Amino acid sequence: MTSSAPRVRVRFAPSPTGYLHVGGARTAIFNWLFAKHMGGDFLLRIEDTDQTRYDEKALVELMADLKWLGLQWVEGPEVGGPHAPYFQSQRLPMYQAAAKTLVAGGHAYPCFCTTERMDELRETQKRNNLPTCYDRRCRTLPPETAQERIAAGEKYTIRLKVPFQGNTVFKDFLRGTIDYQNRILDDMVLLKTDGFPTYHLANVVDDHDMRITHVMRGDEWIPSTPRHVIMYNAFGWEPPTFVHLPVILSPDGGKLSKRKGAASVGDYRDLGYLPETMVNFLSLLGWAPGDDQEFMEMDKLVELFNIEKINAKSAVFDEKKLEWLNGQYFLRRSVEYFLPLVKPMWAAAGIDPNAFSDDYFRTAISLLKDRSKRLPDFVAYGMYFFREPETFDEKSSKKHFGPGSEKLLNTLREALESAPDFETGTLETLYKATAESLGIKGGDLIHPTRLAVSGLPFGPGLFELMHALGREAVVRRLRFAADAIANGQVRTAVTA
Ligand code: GLU
Repeated sequence: MTSSAPRVRVRFAPSPTGYLHVGGARTAIFNWLFAKHMGGDFLLRIEDTDQTRYDEKALVELMADLKWLGLQWVEGPEVGGPHAPYFQSQRLPMYQAAAKTLVAGGHAYPCFCTTERMDELRETQKRNNLPTCYDRRCRTLPPETAQERIAAGEKYTIRLKVPFQGNTVFKDFLRGTIDYQNRILDDMVLLKTDGFPTYHLANVVDDHDMRITHVMRGDEWIPSTPRHVIMYNAFGWEPPTFVHLPVILSPDGGKLSKRKGAASVGDYRDLGYLPETMVNFLSLLGWAPGDDQEFMEMDKLVELFNIEKINAKSAVFDEKKLEWLNGQYFLRRSVEYFLPLVKPMWAAAGIDPNAFSDDYFRTAISLLKDRSKRLPDFVAYGMYFFREPETFDEKSSKKHFGPGSEKLLNTLREALESAPDFETGTLETLYKATAESLGIKGGDLIHPTRLAVSGLPFGPGLFELMHALGREAVVRRLRFAADAIANGQVRTAVTA
């Protein structure tokens, strides 16, 4: 891009009719990263002209989701801006004026066909195996007749007058030249009988008015683009650069859909994914910096995000990779970062947060975070920091709580009771000595101990864990498990 190129301005233009799907989030992320990379502006515009499908709650959640992802807009709802309002439902006079301009220029016309007539037409076309489209009956009405009917109060829409012949050609940044034959394009409605615009008119008018330089959106909008280009030409406006993003596929190859596990951004938040994971992961759906790098923090993504590197080919949503990436962020984020996220989760699971110090929570987090992949893992695999296990992992119990195990546990307990201190180094030395005195291998002692102390077959380093739990708790737990084994009352549970 040369230095004389206008400042990059992009927008995310959702219709608040439902949750923010990961596909929509990917579009928002690409727009945001591109704006930041280019030193441009990222706008949020709410395309709420379909009032029947408008959902106030969806709008609130959508904005919360964008903020959670870190995609703050510089113009739009809440923040305002020079092109306010940013809700299309509040911009009706602009669209009505624009429609009038098109009619006056001979590029659009009033249509008086009723819903009943349109239904009949559609039925007839279907019966005759014809494509269903408007038959352009009102296109040839003399303007005076149309004016008279409008003056008489008849309801009408405004339709685009698509040329009968020729082609509409435009360039897509990723796909190159796209060519549509005009004869297959319908004379679509631009303004409805209630004075509301359709998506097409409002979208074009706003993108022009808001000085949008690049329209980056899902490729399902490609068929709409020739119609938009016809409008840009009719208005005499320069169209923006179109960048249609590749479709996202589910791992089995079909289009990503809710049914196939694709979900909203909020669902992934609830599953315990971090916002930076989501941004990193979604940015890689159809884009790569050109090397094998996959872990990229937001500032790195901004630095590297180059639209030349967007791939026009479909991208696959790989949930396993998402989980792996989340784990990468867990490794790198501090204990302090997790404390406010995880403490409430433990509280929700029934732990009294006031019964433990923040330092104890910090210790638990530091021992768990590097082995966790999602936030709920802290609860699923870390309750033993706060509650003594009463049940023990089934598979592991079968292996490690056999006849004689109670002797191992009791011997170890006695050694621990008289240990000079409970530091990890001391524990390790004591362990080796106890195993030796029992004539067994260290591992044969470690497994039943871990199980007795935590109820689980895996977890942080055993000596660190015992040090964190403290002597009293460890001794109590060893005694409980040894007694249960001796009495044949080990309760088991499937834990992993
Ligand atoms: N309102 C459209 C949507 O919900 C916007 C499409 C576009 O970006 O032009 O996806």
